[in-house]
Amino acid sequence: MVRIDLHTHSLASDGTQTPTDLVLAAKAEGLDVLAITEHDSADGWAEAAEAAADSGVELVRGMEISTRHQGDGVHLLAYLPDPTHPDLHEALAAILDGRGSRVPAMIERLRELGSAITLDDVRRANPTTPAIGRPHLADALVTLGEVADRDEAFERFLAAGRPAYVDRYAAPLASTIDIVDRAGGVSVIAHPWGRNAPASLDEESLAALAEGGLAGIEVDHEDHDPETRERLRAIARNLALVATGSSDHHGAGKTGHQLGCNTTDPDEYERLIDLAAAASARSGRSTPPVVR
Ligand code: AMP
Ligand code: ZN
Ligand code: FE
Ligand code: FE
Repeated sequence: MVRIDLHTHSLASDGTQTPTDLVLAAKAEGLDVLAITEHDSADGWAEAAEAAADSGVELVRGMEISTRHQGDGVHLLAYLPDPTHPDLHEALAAILDGRGSRVPAMIERLRELGSAITLDDVRRANPTTPAIGRPHLADALVTLGEVADRDEAFERFLAAGRPAYVDRYAAPLASTIDIVDRAGGVSVIAHPWGRNAPASLDEESLAALAEGGLAGIEVDHEDHDPETRERLRAIARNLALVATGSSDHHGAGKTGHQLGCNTTDPDEYERLIDLAAAASARSGRSTPPVVR
């Protein structure tokens, strides 16, 4: 049986394994296909590709882009785009900029709440990622001994609506789907009805987004209960959207999201890859070749 996991994170964003260790873990787990999908950047691609080349694991290079749709935050998985496309590059730069400027604001909130956290603590939690985020603030709080784990940090301080939460810029969803298409990639909405199930992503909106080039939706995800999965699967069928399944693995940073805990049907994967090839042929843009 071919096992395909299309959504994972490494230390290049907010996972806890190096890209190499992520690929090795995928191999140990018996995965045949692994997508690396860092938040808002292609960081990690080169190292993961290098590791995958020797492993027998087929690597799909992707990213998880922070977007907004009718006021709701929506995570958009983009597979196989050319990250050097100027519009995509610009969109990602704006998001990363928003991530950077929000961190000091959240630190200030935390300090007002009695934490000793500093910007250095957060940077030390992950010195290299361009996509600094709440998980790194959480890790710094753990190191300081102020919370036990990421979950506690989110519950008490960092989740939307909690006292240290500060919003940040996200790119408009519909235009980002168009940019990904013009960069030769395909778009899949991550956990569409997950944690903060956005009311704006009903079947009618998804139909409009499909018209605008959306290729698929992530159906099998830990944040979806069985009924949610069946409803999303039916919508995918109605709208001819690709239905994917994935772990959203973050190493030790997210419990209950082990590699391969959800997988994508090989036929659905093939459709996705065919759509990416078509987008690439139309745009003349392709994922940069893996240089070894
Ligand atoms: P940010 O990128 O700063 O918006 O943080 C979002 C990331 O934090 C998500 O991609 C998840 O990996 C993680 N996250 C979000 N909510 C929680 C939570 N309640 N507990 C643990 N991790 C979370
Ligand atoms: Zn994450
Ligand atoms: Fe996400
Ligand atoms: Fe994710």
